[in-house]
Amino acid sequence: MMPSNNIFKKRRREFMRRMKEGAALLLSAPVAMRNNDVEHEYRQDSNFFYLTGFEEPDAACLLLPQGKNEKFVLFVRPRNLQEEVWGGHRAGVEGAIKRFGADKAHPISELPKRLEEYLGGAKAFYFQLGARPDMDKMITEKLGQLRANSRAGFSAPSDLRDPAAILHEMRLIKSREEIAALRAACDASAKAHEMAMRATRPGMSEYEIDAVLRYFFRKSGSPRMGYPTIVASGSNATTLHYNANNRKMKPGELLLIDAGTEIDYMTADITRTFPVNGKFSKEQKEIYSLVLEAQAAAIRRVKPGVTFQSVHEIAVQKIADGLKKLGVLKGPIKKLIEKKNYVRFYMHRTSHWLGMDVHDCGAYYTAGKSRKLEPGMVLTVEPGLYFREEEKSYPAKFCGIGIRIEDDVLVTKKGYEILSHKAPKAMDELEAIVGKGVRLNIPQ
Ligand code: MG
Ligand code: MG
Repeated sequence: MMPSNNIFKKRRREFMRRMKEGAALLLSAPVAMRNNDVEHEYRQDSNFFYLTGFEEPDAACLLLPQGKNEKFVLFVRPRNLQEEVWGGHRAGVEGAIKRFGADKAHPISELPKRLEEYLGGAKAFYFQLGARPDMDKMITEKLGQLRANSRAGFSAPSDLRDPAAILHEMRLIKSREEIAALRAACDASAKAHEMAMRATRPGMSEYEIDAVLRYFFRKSGSPRMGYPTIVASGSNATTLHYNANNRKMKPGELLLIDAGTEIDYMTADITRTFPVNGKFSKEQKEIYSLVLEAQAAAIRRVKPGVTFQSVHEIAVQKIADGLKKLGVLKGPIKKLIEKKNYVRFYMHRTSHWLGMDVHDCGAYYTAGKSRKLEPGMVLTVEPGLYFREEEKSYPAKFCGIGIRIEDDVLVTKKGYEILSHKAPKAMDELEAIVGKGVRLNIPQ
């Protein structure tokens, strides 16, 4: 199910309200080639989709808050039955109006010519220069021509503004519909995580578990994953962006899975770590419970008015404290934190915004200060501990252990809601389900 037209209309109205004047031009994502004439799977640009709901490439959108009859103009690929035989159905100029609610639509080939018409007289021009060098040249040429023609009665926009400044603030606060989509993405992803746990047994390969995740992602109706899945067994888990996913898993090891799927252009981002043979060792338990405790404390911190940074600080405090108790770090806690001694074992941040993009947009700092959380924001809380195998200075018993626990947390009026709560993470829960087997529910 795609969001209804009304949602995009509401977003455009709000975007234009914040623009106040001028014209905004947004571009669809370009098609990316994979090898020779094979294209990468196409996924629309998040900002472009956010305002239009339009999923085809080679499109542009003009928004004109002061336009009389034309406030929302789409430029699209025209219908072409011969090309559609190969590439699939196109909305075309008529569909852009009828199905996507454009006041006016033109073939994309007319964009350069029509820009002069639409930009002439606009005071401000909202366009993200630098994002698409191939388009920048055409745009700046058009601006130059408008300036040169100003004596003939045209005028070029005097202000160039970045539409992202408005869009990213809008996208940072999730609407009811966006939260529903995130919840659906989290539910589908949590189920795939649980199935992956049930499927895991020593002797299997990481890619087999990757396949189980993909199966349940797609079975939920999700069109694509939000990011490449990490299935990292043993010491692979200490490589933060490992995604070769091709190693055979051995008994006694942990498996770290960082995977999330996308529904209605909103993605989940969930990490779980569990023992391949369904039983935590003493050392694994020690590290796991420390990470889990740090995560719980950081999540409890989430509520309106507290800073984004303070969620990280709580996690760091707990991690440093725990590492000291385990004898990994020595010295006064305050010093350990000040000197960042924990960074060797916990080298990433605790949180990022989550939404249409897995590392979603939105400023983390305002006026040089860490941003305060507000209802409708969604952030991950994902502390971890990583003991690289080759580090001879680390306690040998922990070497090769990599553990991260990641949940997706919505800031509510009173506090928080864990959107990804359905993915099992308590140690006894994990031990009870790992290796118990999975039914694919495909009739024989
Ligand atoms: Mg993740
Ligand atoms: Mg994350």
